[in-house]
Amino acid sequence: MPSALETLMKILRLEREQGFRNAAVIGGLAAFAGKWKDDAHAQARRPEHHELVDELVGLLQAYEEIVDRQQRHEAIKYMMGRVTGRVPREGEAPTPSAARPAEPAPSQPSFAEAAPAPDSAPSVEAPALSEAAAPPEPPPARRSSRASHQRKVQQARERRSTRRKGGRPGEEADDAAAAAVPEAVAEETFEAEEPVRPKPRRKPRHARELTEELDLLHGLEAPVAVVEGVGEKMTEKLERLGIRSVGGLLQHMPRRHDDYTRLLPINRATPGEVLTLIGTVRSSQVQKGRGGRPFLQVVMDDGTGPLTIFFFGQPYLQHQIKKGEQLVVSGKTEQYLGHLSMNNPDWELLEYDNLHTRAIVPVYPLTEGVPARTMRRIVKATVDYWAPRLPDYLPESVLDRAELVELGWALRQAHFPDNWDFHTYAMERLAFDELFLLQMAMLARRRDWQRVPGIPLPVTDSWLADLQANLPYGLTSAQGRALGEIRADIATATPMNRLLQGDVGSGKTVVAALAMLMAVENGAQAAIMAPTSILAEQHFRSLTALLAQLLPEREIAVRLLTGATPAAEREETLRRLTDGTVSILVGTHALIQPDVDFANLALAVIDEQHRFGVSQRALLRGKGTNPHVLVMTATPIPRTLALTLHADLDLSVIDELPPGRTPVETYLLTELERERAYSFIDQQIAQGRQAFIVYPLVEAEDPEDETQSAVAEQERLQREVFTSRRVGLLHGRMSPAEKDAVMARFQAGELDILVSTSVVEVGIDVPNASVILIEGANRFGLAQLHQFRGRVGRGAHQSTCLLIGDTDNGNARQRLEAMVRTTDGFELAEVDFQLRGAGELFGTRQSGLDLNLRFGAQYTPALVSLAQREARTVYAEDPELKLPEHRLLAERVLMWHAAGTDLS
Ligand code: ADP
Ligand code: MG
Repeated sequence: MPSALETLMKILRLEREQGFRNAAVIGGLAAFAGKWKDDAHAQARRPEHHELVDELVGLLQAYEEIVDRQQRHEAIKYMMGRVTGRVPREGEAPTPSAARPAEPAPSQPSFAEAAPAPDSAPSVEAPALSEAAAPPEPPPARRSSRASHQRKVQQARERRSTRRKGGRPGEEADDAAAAAVPEAVAEETFEAEEPVRPKPRRKPRHARELTEELDLLHGLEAPVAVVEGVGEKMTEKLERLGIRSVGGLLQHMPRRHDDYTRLLPINRATPGEVLTLIGTVRSSQVQKGRGGRPFLQVVMDDGTGPLTIFFFGQPYLQHQIKKGEQLVVSGKTEQYLGHLSMNNPDWELLEYDNLHTRAIVPVYPLTEGVPARTMRRIVKATVDYWAPRLPDYLPESVLDRAELVELGWALRQAHFPDNWDFHTYAMERLAFDELFLLQMAMLARRRDWQRVPGIPLPVTDSWLADLQANLPYGLTSAQGRALGEIRADIATATPMNRLLQGDVGSGKTVVAALAMLMAVENGAQAAIMAPTSILAEQHFRSLTALLAQLLPEREIAVRLLTGATPAAEREETLRRLTDGTVSILVGTHALIQPDVDFANLALAVIDEQHRFGVSQRALLRGKGTNPHVLVMTATPIPRTLALTLHADLDLSVIDELPPGRTPVETYLLTELERERAYSFIDQQIAQGRQAFIVYPLVEAEDPEDETQSAVAEQERLQREVFTSRRVGLLHGRMSPAEKDAVMARFQAGELDILVSTSVVEVGIDVPNASVILIEGANRFGLAQLHQFRGRVGRGAHQSTCLLIGDTDNGNARQRLEAMVRTTDGFELAEVDFQLRGAGELFGTRQSGLDLNLRFGAQYTPALVSLAQREARTVYAEDPELKLPEHRLLAERVLMWHAAGTDLS
């Protein structure tokens, strides 16, 4: 019965390509199943065929009830496997649970109306329903072998994505990796499948005395000089890489691996792949590019064909890459005048060892004076010595439950993998450890903080009701919930440690203000610290205004303290803080200077907390008698991740915007539609509005990237596009004073357009700005794009966000389409987490953490939940880690504490 199954296969493939949105056929897969069923039964010849048809119909009908994207992915994969006969039948089809009504498609009129397109409209079809926003459903029950099959798929997916990730340095590597996922799935299903190698069994542990084990564990802290072949000079060089100890070396992960086990001849490579290629250099010549900038052009050949390599901005490489040399390059293949080419690949002169051993070879981030092979040798020596000796500090029970490999094995395989499966298991173990130790350390820290009592700040219901009655608006229910949680916390002597997470504009400030008033009501002081003086001033103004409304008959002394506060005023403020006549202090870092003393600080609020370091937060915490601490962030981190990374904090979420806001309209444009974007911006300015234009780069290294550079584009836009408008420039290489000056001019309306890099993401408030254009949008994480978008829509004007990507690979599009689909930051964070893992969060300072997390790119939703579950289980069982089986772990957590966050 070929044809019905073939049709189904096509649909399933389409569904996969379109990102599991149940949109491959009109009406969804369930509707399709109804029609398909009869055809399929009609074609069926044998009883098994009928059974298969029934099974598939059940699965198709159940598909729309699956809300989790990953599970949809698994379901499609499973159905394909059943059709192709690769997967045996197992378990029942998941039974449909309560159906969710599809959300109506958002309407998107105004950008399209305001600047009509010559032909194609920019709007993106609205996918039916967003997986991420839906409540999690219990996974359908399946037999264990199915579960293990799923795990295998997941692992294969991760393995491939890691492998690709290895291919290219910098952020584009992530894009390539992310983009590779759908392809990888295709490979799995339709190409000859390599068997996934199982995890090796753990060996029995050494029978050693605890003291010996502890000594060995502390060996991680030994200076690098103990490693064979590391002398004084090398110690200094490694120091420059931040590597000081044996542990630091072991955790110095390769940037990528070159896979010499499967080298491709050049003539078999096609453009658009991330590959490692080897050849002999035939020519190496410096050429002049656009604007006279020199670049190096190398042609190499491996006997099957030539590869042209461009090193933009690196003409000096001609002294290293010479004619006749054997060269290894890794990067994305492109096409140049019909020939295969690569731009700025990673490169290395060939080491014959690697070729001969046909190994998977680590490539480390390097520093001046530490050649690749030296680094490899040093790490190898360290791994050889320590991997067999290092005691595994994780309890066996955790390793069993989480199905993890042993530590020594993981360290070896992470650096020098025998194969990609082993590398995956190794990275999973190391990433698990990072998450697990982080949580154990934070849970301990929380316990220590809470040992010292704080000042209880109880208030009565009627006091709070009176206050709220004076608010110009009612609190949203999410605000009310958060306020209730805070109120309950600070009413007790146990100091609060709470993270208030709420999207831009969700109204965190008023919640913090009410909490601060609770402190004032109890005769105590409160402080709020913001990362920039602009923000501090904003807070000062809005707090003063709010207090005048809330408590008109009471004079509450609020003071502002920033770096710019004149000396005399500062002195007075400091004096009045010590004598207790200032009740609320608003400020920047100026607030944590040593000479700032409070009479009785009972509540410390930290706004945009990810802008501050752990030590700065600790300093503020140290100002009072263990004050209650409220940290606020607009970075929507997926809930599991937030609870894991901030295990020392309780979490309150404001997941609702105040009513009456017109959401920012978002459009995804092609590069051809840029002119329309410009004319739209111009119209907005003509109506008195202002605009942001955001670029991914400050300046371009590679001439190809010039269109992505804020500096170059600001010039061009001023000169060629917005000639009669005032176009300003803001980027991270400017001094703080310059930045403040530009921002102030934009705020005052003296600039029409602010061309900027990602620095604009900080909570800046210019209500008159009504449009933001983001170039190279695919290069940013969704969380970051969402922050950018929050720069507009802050006033009364309908606002618009325009996205233009510079690549159209499937995953980039999917992510940007999510931006069009929803303005819910939490949903976007979840989408990014599902599509790209947590790596993005760490690449962009978005995490709200300043931890040195090495394995962020490996944090999958599943792993994060697993680590959370295990850490909580161990903590619940033995919070002080006093049990004998937790002794090593206790020590390791202490070491983690002592080293900041890790061992270097
Ligand atoms: P953020 O969470 O980004 O710090 P803000 O606290 O600055 O947001 O609030 C954004 C705006 O929303 C402010 O102008 C504030 O006055 C207003 N606002 C806050 N809560 C409400 C509410 N419940 N109803 C209406 N407007 C509100
Ligand atoms: Mg704010």
